[in-house]
Amino acid sequence: DVVVVGSVNADLVVGVERRPAPGETVLGSDLAVHPGGKGANQAVAAARLGGRAALVGRVGDDGHGALLRGALAAAGVGLDHLATTPGVPTGVALITVGPDGDNSIIVSPGANARLGPADVAAARDLIAAASVVSFQLEVPLPAVEAAAGVAGGRVVLNLSPPAPVPAGLLARCDPLVVNEHEAAYLLDGEPGDPRDAAAALARSGPRSAVVTLGADGAVVADGDGVTAIPAPAADAVDTTGAGDAFTAALCLRLARGDALRDAARYAARAGAAAVRRRGAQSSFPTPAELPAP
Ligand code: ADP
Repeated sequence: DVVVVGSVNADLVVGVERRPAPGETVLGSDLAVHPGGKGANQAVAAARLGGRAALVGRVGDDGHGALLRGALAAAGVGLDHLATTPGVPTGVALITVGPDGDNSIIVSPGANARLGPADVAAARDLIAAASVVSFQLEVPLPAVEAAAGVAGGRVVLNLSPPAPVPAGLLARCDPLVVNEHEAAYLLDGEPGDPRDAAAALARSGPRSAVVTLGADGAVVADGDGVTAIPAPAADAVDTTGAGDAFTAALCLRLARGDALRDAARYAARAGAAAVRRRGAQSSFPTPAELPAP
């Protein structure tokens, strides 16, 4: 159904009372290590929803790489094109969580930065045959562009972290998926009215656009116009991974033939389910765990 070309990171999480100033040392909580990376998260989320999902990516020849491979395999993600780069660390996200639950994150891409057009060439048949190919920007742009060029099905780009997108890549996106911050980045301004933002994005190059709005759901803009998608009510415990769950569910339903707005309604249910549990991959729902439409 879905092939994800993207990042694989170990999330290293420490709770702190406050963050150290330059030159200072503070003591934190026990270290927690979780499987993460937007690419891996989306592949796991799609698989947990019952989809056939494969990941094209790179890890290092180290303990984190083994942990991440294990988590992906346990979720049932196809790993024939998850390569190992010897002598380079697996990507990590160094995350401190403050007393208010606020995150500060440093991502060290490691092996993710070595994903290139040669990896795409090696996975060419897989990418060409997929109904939907999904990307984020935690891997180098040349790999994303090469894969979009090979894709035979729909291309979905989640512009995270935000960065300039070449016009040729943007033109393949159906949809471009952004949250409010990423939308503001692309539109050079304040978030503004989300319906206007989605419509403006859809006019700026992609075939369609989706703006996600946290607890306010999402807005879809395509050839059929602009549609607001409500979010099911959810007692939010931890919003980590909500965007990844949303995008993965969207890709899966598009792969199964849904129209974009119907796929987005399903995706909003997956996003809402993901905020009910802590963590990223640990929070992704099975179909039985989705809230009612
Ligand atoms: P990101 O994590 O990329 O910033 P959002 O915060 O916009 O993305 O969340 C993605 C989707 O997850 C939303 O469009 C919505 O469907 C769902 N979602 C997020 N937070 C909540 C919430 N508090 N209640 C219900 N649904 C939510």
